[in-house]
Amino acid sequence: MKVYLDYNATTPVDPAVLEAMLPYFRERFGNAASRSHAFGWEAEAAVKRAREQVAELINAQPEDILFTSGATEGNNLALKGAAAMYAEQGKHVITQVTEHKAVLDPCKYLEQKGYRVTFLPVDATGRIDLAQLAEAIKPDTILVSIMHGNNEIGTLQPIAEIGRLCKERGVLFHTDCCQTFGKVPIDVQACGIDLLTCSGHKIYGPKGVGAVYVRRTRPRVRLEPLLHGGGHERGMRSGTLNVPGIVGLGAAAEIAGRQMATEGPRVAALRDRLRDGLLAQLDHVTVNGHPTERIPTNLNVSFAFVEGESLMMGMDDIAVSSGSACTSASLEPSYVLRALGVGDDLAHSSIRFSLGRFTTEAEIDYTIERVVAAVRRLRAMSPLYEMVQEGVDLKAVQWQPH
Ligand SMILES: *Cc1c(COP(=O)(O)O)cnc(C)c1O
Repeated sequence: MKVYLDYNATTPVDPAVLEAMLPYFRERFGNAASRSHAFGWEAEAAVKRAREQVAELINAQPEDILFTSGATEGNNLALKGAAAMYAEQGKHVITQVTEHKAVLDPCKYLEQKGYRVTFLPVDATGRIDLAQLAEAIKPDTILVSIMHGNNEIGTLQPIAEIGRLCKERGVLFHTDCCQTFGKVPIDVQACGIDLLTCSGHKIYGPKGVGAVYVRRTRPRVRLEPLLHGGGHERGMRSGTLNVPGIVGLGAAAEIAGRQMATEGPRVAALRDRLRDGLLAQLDHVTVNGHPTERIPTNLNVSFAFVEGESLMMGMDDIAVSSGSACTSASLEPSYVLRALGVGDDLAHSSIRFSLGRFTTEAEIDYTIERVVAAVRRLRAMSPLYEMVQEGVDLKAVQWQPH
């Protein structure tokens, strides 16, 4: 058995999505910008349909949707594009510490370019404090960028309240919705969202395609483009459109929208089954993130006295990710877990399980069995765990200096 529980990293393309895409590689290969023949019109019609499918899911107008190469580009376009366009109004941007790198790195880039960026902290559950956000908004603030659902810990931010605050204070609100688009209801009107990013491959669409919602009325949001060329996508994103990819994103959005009401509770129940199964059989296990305000697909758990990387090696038929970024030589504990105040030890002990459309109850039960066995095996080799079992309070131990 091989179990995939890394859906927050990427998802397989849904067979129905692939079917929808195939004709646009073959007979319907036209350039959506070709205005003089049927090949172009056919491609343009397909892109128009995808715009409607994406817009529908977030209560936007089709014309508000721009297609990009993915959410990394979308976040860069929203952040750098708005910062450049509105620089005369101010050079202050607000974000928060647990954003994806595709938001944090553009923000750091803006800092280098002379902007001021406020990185709000989060509480132990991963949420920002609205009073702190209100206080951070200054006369020169142009943009607030706060993600909806966190990719590592699953915590949802209160985007409706954030949007309301931004509207009151006259600043633009951008939200990275990669992990919630198609999984949790989103309404850009009700939430006062001006800019929103999503990605195809997180919702059973293809990799290399994404979309940005750019509000056109009340207020009309304009972005300085990253790419200059043929003036595609209202001049904000030039380049021949990736028609098969866009068709795939549209089909994926439609399927996700159709299934959301049943798929959300189904996956949440499997996630809870996994959590309860682990907690029932293992001690010293903590769940990271918010207890209730979380996306249905994510469970992030720390197994004290066990190293996440060793645990993954001990159950190599279960595809998950750990709380350490195993980059080259250094084992850096997750900056997201650190921001919650999780100590480095427990951050190193954490595993992210992320579930999805093809996850079954049998897979969850098998995973529980495999994780419990691997954790027990590793703890049996841990002298610290043995001491704790014997009743020693590790915090009270006076370790002998050398
Ligand atoms: C995956 C992801 C991204 C990056 O999306 P790509 O389309 O892979 O560039 C950005 N933000 C979040 C929250 C993500 O989960």
